Amino acid sequence: AVVVLRLGHRPGRDERMTTHVGLTARALGADRLLLESVAEGRRETIDDITDRFGGPFEVEITDSPLGRLRSWKGPIVHLTMYGQPVQRVEDEIRASHREEPLLVVVGAEKVPFEVYDRADWNLGVTNQPHSEIAALAVFLDHLFDGRELDREWTDAEKRVIPKETGKRVEDVE
Ligand code: SAM
Repeated sequence: AVVVLRLGHRPGRDERMTTHVGLTARALGADRLLLESVAEGRRETIDDITDRFGGPFEVEITDSPLGRLRSWKGPIVHLTMYGQPVQRVEDEIRASHREEPLLVVVGAEKVPFEVYDRADWNLGVTNQPHSEIAALAVFLDHLFDGRELDREWTDAEKRVIPKETGKRVEDVE
């Protein structure tokens, strides 16, 4: 399993970013999103997409994100522009994720040093500053080697039928 921990959330400013971290995690093959209580309001939008377009995907709220990090049993990846290049460490991460659930931490603003210290890999998607959403997307795509793009969805109400032009959405029986 892959669990994404969204660390930090500035009310007002980060609303769409946090929602998009969740939607990107879901679309690109993660199993669960851990959100801090301050971001609880984002849950509904993400759950609503899962209800309509399928899962499985869970959103969990936690009062103690650092507590979750400290007690995590499997490997931990922290996405940060200061980390080791994804292309250098992805094989190692893939191998360890085969054995145990992987926690992927993404920040909003400054991330406490403890996270750098506890992570098994501090991983950069380039060493340029950009976005947690973009970093998460590229990381998951490397982790799953593109296979997440062909993933099946369960309990969907709606399914998009790809078209060259226009939009087609079908109800799933
Ligand atoms: N300046 C903040 C710091 O020093 O921790 C980071 C702010 S950045 C907008 C928000 C999040 O995006 C970071 O916590 C990190 O998870 C992610 N991020 C930004 N650039 C990244 C990169 N090149 N590689 C991996 N993650 C990145």
